[in-house]
Parts: sequence; C-alpha cells; structure tokens
Amino acid sequence: MAKTFSPLRGLELRSFRARMAAWAVGIFCDEVRRSPGSAGKALRGMWRLGRLTDVYLSAAKPVRFGRPAEGGCVKAGLYVPRWPSDALAGRVRRWLRSQQVHHEQVTLSVTDECPYRCPHCFNARRPAAPMPLSRLKELVKEIQDIGGSFLNIGGGEPGVAMDRTLAVLEAADGRSEVWLNTTGFNMDARAARTLTDAGVFGVRVSTRPSRASRTSRPPGRFPS
Ligand code: SF4
Repeated sequence: MAKTFSPLRGLELRSFRARMAAWAVGIFCDEVRRSPGSAGKALRGMWRLGRLTDVYLSAAKPVRFGRPAEGGCVKAGLYVPRWPSDALAGRVRRWLRSQQVHHEQVTLSVTDECPYRCPHCFNARRPAAPMPLSRLKELVKEIQDIGGSFLNIGGGEPGVAMDRTLAVLEAADGRSEVWLNTTGFNMDARAARTLTDAGVFGVRVSTRPSRASRTSRPPGRFPS
C-alpha cells in the first residue's frame, strides 16, 4: 500500500460515491442470483443501505489511501472496512441478508503482558495464562466465520508478543481488516514493515503512560 493519503472532496468524492454504489449493486446482483427468493428483501436492504450511506457520508470525511493505479482504497470511517475490500463486501452481504447491524468489530488481546503498569489496566491486574497458539489461530477463523470484519489486535501490549501478533495475522484472511492497538513498544521501521507485509492495515498508538502512573502500583505477575 502506498504511503500517500488525502481527503476526498468535490468531483473525486462524487466519483467515489458513484463507484461504490455500482460496486454495491454488483453484490446485490450476486445475492439475488444466490437466492432468487430473497430478491425483495435484498432490494429493501439496498434501498435502506443507500439512505444510511447518504446520511453517513454527509458527516464522514472519507480519505483515499494510495493512488487508484496502485490499488489504492478509500476509508469512509475508522470502523468501516476500506473500499473496495472483501471485508466490506462481507459486511454489505450480511446487511442485505438480515438488515441488522451486527457487532463486527472485535478486539483480540494476544497477551496480558505490558511493560507499563497503569493502575486502571484490566489486563495487567488479572493476567491469564496465554491461549495456546493453535487455539488462537482457530479463534481468528471463528471470529471471521461469524462476521468479524474489523479485527483489532490488542493486549496488553502486542509489541511484547510479536510471535502471537504475527500468528493472528497469518490466520486472518481478507474477510477482516486488521488493525493494531499499541503503545509503540518494540516498534521500529523494521517491525512496521513486517506487520504491514503480514496484513496490518492500520495502527492506533495510545498515549504513553506517565511515569507516575506506571510506578504507582506493583507490577502484575505474568505467567512464564
Ligand atoms: S499501556 Fe495499556 S496495556 Fe499497558 S498497562 Fe497501560 S493500559 Fe495496560
């Protein structure tokens, strides 16, 4: 993915809306072919989806990442998978089938470990034995099978468990857009490249805890 990004405005925004609408119509046609008996329901879903999208985009600030010739994409909102993508297509299909808003954002804590000691931290207060790697990978598939189209990898601090972070990325396919929640611990240009190549689309970096906050209580006990 190219490193450039820019807000969509004017003609470019109108073009994006038209192309996304045509893309959604393609999904609608697939759905009708798959299940002709549900055409009426899918049509109502398309109509409602169009209205919801209009309302959403009237307040959102869509951003284009990369150039179209380089396979660029558009993010209409943080929690909406990029367009075009299998993750967003899956979300649209589920909407056409059920016309219900599902809980599609999942945060998967790959570790309770973290070098900081925030007094409010749930993970640090109650560290649990790490889930076996094989089960962690199965869990990613189960999350995707029930429609987890937006997958956050979190912790604890995922930067201290890079093997587990990479295992999640290896298990996830295009049905989810994957983000990383991190303090930035253990992150450098090389780690960023590895994570990007492994499928991380975006990173949310939290504010580093203050020293007073970190040392105001004893460290949690982490299983070895
Ligand atoms: S930085 Fe985050 S994960 Fe680490 S102890 Fe603080 S709240 Fe917990």
